[in-house]
Amino acid sequence: METIQSDSPKKVFIETWGCQMNVADSEQMLGLLRAQNYTQTDKPEDADLVLLNTCHIREKATHKVLSRLGRMREISLEFNPKMKIAVAGCVAQAEGKKLMEKASNIDILLGPGKIQELPGLLAAHAADGKRAMAIGFEKHVVDSHRHDPAPELAVKTEVETPYVTNPTVTMKEEITRFVNIAQGCDNFCTFCVVPFTRGREISRPLESIVSEVKTLLTEGAKEITLLGQNVNSYGDDLVRDGKHVAPADGPFVELLDRVAQIPGVERLRFTTSNPHDFTKPVAEMFRKHKNLGRYIHLPVQAGHDDVLERMKRKVTVAQYMERIQWLRDIDPEMALSTDLIVGFPGETEDEFQGTLDLVEKVRYSFIYAFKYSSRKGTAAARFKDQVPEAVMHERLLRLQALQNRITTELNVAEIGNRREVLCHYASRKEPDVYYGRTEQFRLVKITSTRNLVGKTLTVDIVEANKTALVGVIV
Ligand code: SF4
Repeated sequence: METIQSDSPKKVFIETWGCQMNVADSEQMLGLLRAQNYTQTDKPEDADLVLLNTCHIREKATHKVLSRLGRMREISLEFNPKMKIAVAGCVAQAEGKKLMEKASNIDILLGPGKIQELPGLLAAHAADGKRAMAIGFEKHVVDSHRHDPAPELAVKTEVETPYVTNPTVTMKEEITRFVNIAQGCDNFCTFCVVPFTRGREISRPLESIVSEVKTLLTEGAKEITLLGQNVNSYGDDLVRDGKHVAPADGPFVELLDRVAQIPGVERLRFTTSNPHDFTKPVAEMFRKHKNLGRYIHLPVQAGHDDVLERMKRKVTVAQYMERIQWLRDIDPEMALSTDLIVGFPGETEDEFQGTLDLVEKVRYSFIYAFKYSSRKGTAAARFKDQVPEAVMHERLLRLQALQNRITTELNVAEIGNRREVLCHYASRKEPDVYYGRTEQFRLVKITSTRNLVGKTLTVDIVEANKTALVGVIV
């Protein structure tokens, strides 16, 4: 695509909701905008362009976007009448024209499959003043450049969890960096909109990923997280299309093996893993490579086979537990987190009890638990026996109470342990306070008068609560 260079400096305000895939997309869009002479601002009042990168996973997604657009309209009227508004992400993809009709202040709308078109859409809008829209996906083809970041994509993010709590991409942290390895998903779990909003799986070529990781290391990255909707099926499309020949253990194992051996990768993580595609050779990578972080996010969604069947997760509770056993046989301290849906259509008390039992058995470090909410177009939206809101709410509270107890117990059990902590950032509020993570992904607060950012430290854990540990440098 033709690159249009703009001479006068401009400002972009960007908000990102949802998963790390969205954060990575925001990074990519920021990179494209920087090449157009944009800099980032944290004040929409000052922005030439407001970019809302939306998520469709949670309840009332469209409503939230419309409400935010309403606020932007007020800001625009009061402070900044020239403000342009772009809506990206999964709500843009799912709602398309309907969203444009509902919100007349959207100037540009683009789906996750059309990120590269952002500069072109901006230029077209600047030329003719017309509202511009690009949604949809390419057919199942491999475009080796589609996800290749340009060198100017040196935008830093600060992300603590798979779901972004502060919906603003910041440029503060450079220690941990996220690398997109694939987009979209070929599974059709019956509750999930991702195959509709992000399309079928398209993997990046392995060499392109390796080269991006090397670039990030030269910029100061110490920890790399490989990102995909389902990282375990990375490269299956490349192999199927005859674009890549993978060893017997599959392309994802090959990729992990390559990236883990790149000098300078102090820690390597990956997310998200669909348990169905999580193989023993993937687990064995944790034995082979000590720099693979001793933590994995393995979304199970429910703890009863009948619910998993209705969700089309293609895995049973026993098979899920087997995968955890592979990991804990390699390292008994392997920490886990998961996603859980409470009140999936037809969920009985007995089935919900299965979820509680599973949580008790696995003892996750933390969970992302949500009440089921129907998504248009998904198979589960047509299921008849929806669980009443009050029942879902009560079950969610019980699940959260159980997990809070487990998280606190696990953290308190850390007191007295000696851990390696990679220090990620300095506290913005407290002087001489730094935060890092153990190999098991537990957050550790450390006090020091020297700058610890980017350092790997041996610390003794001396205090703990539900949220974090306190470490003293040895
Ligand atoms: S594996 Fe299932 S839940 Fe995960 S993105 Fe694909 S369809 Fe959605």
